[in-house]
Amino acid sequence: MNNKKRTGTLVSIQDSLVKARFFDDVIMGETAEITVDGKLLQAEVLQIFPDPKNADAGIVEMQVFEDLTGAQIGDLVEFKGTPLSVLLGPGLLTSIWDGLQNPLYKLGEQNAYLVPGSKAPALDEEMLWEFTPSVKVGDLVKGGDAIGSVPEGRLDHKILVPFNFGTCKVESIIGKSSVNITQVVAVVTDELQLKHELKLVFRQPVKSPIPFKSRAIPSKTISTGVRIIDLLAPVGYGGTVGNPGPFGAGKTVLQHCLCKYALADIIIMAACGERAGEAVEVFKDFAELEDPATGDSLMNRMCIFGNTSSMPVAAREASVFIALTVGEYYRYQGYNVILLADSTSRWAQALRERSGRQGDIPGPEAFPMDIPDQIKGMYQRAGADSGTGGSLTFIGTVSPAGGNFQEPVTQATMDATGGFWGLSQDRADAKKYPAIDPLAYTTSVYDSFISWTDRNKMLQTLNEANGIDQTISTIGLKKVPVEKYVQYQKGLTIDFCVMQQDAFHEIDACTRPERLSVINEAVQKLIHSPIEFSKNGMDDEELKDLVKTKFDELRQWWKDWNSNARQEEQIAGLSKKIEQFIKQEEELA
Ligand code: ADP
Ligand code: MG
Repeated sequence: MNNKKRTGTLVSIQDSLVKARFFDDVIMGETAEITVDGKLLQAEVLQIFPDPKNADAGIVEMQVFEDLTGAQIGDLVEFKGTPLSVLLGPGLLTSIWDGLQNPLYKLGEQNAYLVPGSKAPALDEEMLWEFTPSVKVGDLVKGGDAIGSVPEGRLDHKILVPFNFGTCKVESIIGKSSVNITQVVAVVTDELQLKHELKLVFRQPVKSPIPFKSRAIPSKTISTGVRIIDLLAPVGYGGTVGNPGPFGAGKTVLQHCLCKYALADIIIMAACGERAGEAVEVFKDFAELEDPATGDSLMNRMCIFGNTSSMPVAAREASVFIALTVGEYYRYQGYNVILLADSTSRWAQALRERSGRQGDIPGPEAFPMDIPDQIKGMYQRAGADSGTGGSLTFIGTVSPAGGNFQEPVTQATMDATGGFWGLSQDRADAKKYPAIDPLAYTTSVYDSFISWTDRNKMLQTLNEANGIDQTISTIGLKKVPVEKYVQYQKGLTIDFCVMQQDAFHEIDACTRPERLSVINEAVQKLIHSPIEFSKNGMDDEELKDLVKTKFDELRQWWKDWNSNARQEEQIAGLSKKIEQFIKQEEELA
């Protein structure tokens, strides 16, 4: 194909789906720009048909990623010849974009909304970066190899040869110097002796993954700071987790917790189709927070794709792929990246809307037939890479209507992900946050911060307490023997003091492994010690009252400990308190 402009004109507009007549060649999946009122709107070619009205022409069907208000039949379309892609290079971190990598902070600082079609460079073109070369003239390099690096915050951002390059010879490369992303840093020739100029940045198609060097099983557990996750349902670097929950169950709050406290080099947030207000809140709040590992500003390890519900549906689909590609790019450089997507249901709905308009034969609940494959394809791009030492962890929320986990997106997510954190309506209603049901989760990580035996014992106690709770509600407390009631109170204590956590409390919100082991020690002591209450002339009912009072006191004390214990000595106090609790009760005997 030559360099002549290839154009077409709009012949039909149906929400974000348009058709255009063209006379040249058009490629499936290439991007196009539609000129509407002097603005350029981005679109992607979905299908190509012969034109029933003109034998010399063809018709393309495209989805438009931007607001089409004002578009008219006859508007000009220019085909770009490249697939949907993302600009990769230094400056990705600290950036906030919409789903198409248009920077939000520049385009609409007051309200973080974009004017459709307004364009600003995805990465700052003026900022200078300290480039240090790592290859010399005559060296052979290939796609993915580093030719140098620049410091980006605390990270060493490797400057890579674009991934689609074969083996090339370095013809020239600049020395150590300050450059911006528009400047050429090296020239290479490929096997056909064609010259290519390399800059700090390059464009990468987003729908096909950046390869792994050597894919590995996620093994190292991430300290997320969330107790119920780190104790019972841990996730490893490179793992995948689906996090479904009904509206208001705490999915977004949990994602924000992970974003603030999970230990990783880089966090990417794809805020996909959720409430606009939330996305704006994140932009404001996070800029002021500290990175738990370094004490730097949290934004220095982050980038955000803020694709709110007020933006066109098609952009949601693009945003998840763009975010994944940015994640893979940093994984390739050896970093541990966590991608948080909220919510993948909104992404799936974008696919549903599109396939509905295209007239595809619908699958269950009108989702496209291949939705399980599409979801699988998305999660499969996560993973650990032992070749680079990096990883991409993908944690996606799912918002099933009415909290029904049987619906297709939740089911397909369960099949696709290694871990599954189901948020329960009942627990959320009872304000038991985070509302992950301790009896309804899965994890694929065997290496937790505590031993398997301890973890099982904890679960067993929670399970038993749940059973006794049901017995109490069906046959009444009277019929439950005292020792069963004590067992129930132990489970309640573990649930209330350990599994539940206040996301908004500065100390309670995040628990690191050292503190987890102190907690686990206390829990195991409590579980394993028989607490024999003496009757002292009391009947069973009075005794149960006393048991409840004692446990209530302990829970209150423990809750205070969760929010107040900072110094080592205070932290060690938990173990003493539990011993005392057990002994005090024994002294009564
Ligand atoms: P979802 O995204 O599932 O619709 P949100 O994350 O917005 O739900 O949570 C709804 C509300 O529940 C929050 O505004 C907050 O008040 C409460 N909440 C959720 N999780 C927690 C938590 N871990 N600690 C304290 N409050 C929480
Ligand atoms: Mg939410």
